[in-house]
Amino acid sequence: MSFSLGLAMSLTIRGSLIPTGTGYERVDVQVREGRITAMGSDLGSVLGGEEIDADRCLLLPGMVNAHTHSLEVWTRGLIQPLPLELWLAELYDLVPVTPEMVYWSALSTGVDTLLSGGTAVVDHLVLLPEQEEETLAAACRAYQQLGIRAFMAPLLQDLPLPASLPQGGVGREWGAYFRSTEETLAVMRHLVQRFHDPAAGITLMVGPTGIQLCSDDLFLGCVAISKEFDLGRHTHLLETRAQVKLAAEKYGTSAVAHLHKLGFLDHRTSLAHGVWLTPADMEILASTGSTVVHNPLSNLRLGSGIAPVLQYRQAGVNVTFGCDGSASNDGQDLLEAVKIGSLLHNITDPDYRHWLTAFQSLSMATAGAAKGLGQEQEWGSLAVGQAADLVLYDLTHLSLLPYTDPLQMLFWGRPVHVVKHSWVKGQPVVQNGIPVGCDLEELRRMLWEHSQGGHNTSRRMLHDIEAHYRQVMGLDP
Ligand SMILES: [Zn+2]
Repeated sequence: MSFSLGLAMSLTIRGSLIPTGTGYERVDVQVREGRITAMGSDLGSVLGGEEIDADRCLLLPGMVNAHTHSLEVWTRGLIQPLPLELWLAELYDLVPVTPEMVYWSALSTGVDTLLSGGTAVVDHLVLLPEQEEETLAAACRAYQQLGIRAFMAPLLQDLPLPASLPQGGVGREWGAYFRSTEETLAVMRHLVQRFHDPAAGITLMVGPTGIQLCSDDLFLGCVAISKEFDLGRHTHLLETRAQVKLAAEKYGTSAVAHLHKLGFLDHRTSLAHGVWLTPADMEILASTGSTVVHNPLSNLRLGSGIAPVLQYRQAGVNVTFGCDGSASNDGQDLLEAVKIGSLLHNITDPDYRHWLTAFQSLSMATAGAAKGLGQEQEWGSLAVGQAADLVLYDLTHLSLLPYTDPLQMLFWGRPVHVVKHSWVKGQPVVQNGIPVGCDLEELRRMLWEHSQGGHNTSRRMLHDIEAHYRQVMGLDP
């Protein structure tokens, strides 16, 4: 089954609770041609269209998984606890996947996102070498089938993995990346021309991997492509302590100042992690309108650190949430990311007045994400004129009972299978807890059948770089 996102049904959602920031209101929400056309306490009878009785439901805008790598579904649960740089060495060594597997991992990521309250995903997609077009085609097919909004940022790099480690005064050599910077940019340009189609639910972004694996020329080329095709920008930023050292070695300045100098930062730039930002970095991000995507589970899993999100917000930096890839989180549950990514910060600031409220976290996960993608005029809020990207949560589900404060139960509790219905542009994408565009039994079967089930026994790349990593990070040999 597939959806045409431009053609949407008429719909009235009756009597649902919506949070206001100071409490809750019970409203009717009317949707026509994919947009919210009216909201009120009693809209009366409607001319045609579907009616949903939402008396015991909470209605929220759809959230966004604002940073993930769908291909990592195949390495879920596989890699032992390691810091990012060594974890990546393990990831690089694992058995390669096929375009068919790309399709199933994207479908799995999309389903997990929909069933945890998301209506959009930013897939910083690993491209299979020499099969870039097939990779992107497979992932786009999965997301279009689900009807989820997909922001596709193909991962681009032009430096090999050993270049991502700080040198620490130890001279090291590495070979060239398998493809030149120019050729890499040509591939990206071709992918944009072939796949960028926002009206059909597929929006491309430029997605250089990060300062650790990209040259200045690659960043500059991505800026040029984003301007030529009017695309958003996405990259990893200062995820680890090693990257802070690397930036100082490479640029003699902070990575944020350098990216600013290259013209990469603007109001449609979203930056995954940003764990190690200085006050000066925060000022730059605030002044350029850039967004930090907070991935708390990944940061914990890889020991990267706790991003000082409360400080970012106080400095005027827009912040939203992501799950990050399944190899560094092992799950793609947005509600879990919001819970950990909100509560984690209470231990970092004794002034409880700075702590995130559930309503603030909701705003970060919805409007904050839309802003980071340059979409805030289009969707991300419950307001007349916005696209109907909506999620209806079942407040009678056992995991949300007893009925107390619905939003706090949803975010601070442990909700499971609580999405009753959801829509993208007014089109149903989840109905009665089941994704409309996916046969879940088939998905289960294919994930099982394509599972490698194996472990990386060679650990060749890890052995290559571990001694150097320990030395430059000041760890015992
Ligand atoms: Zn990532």
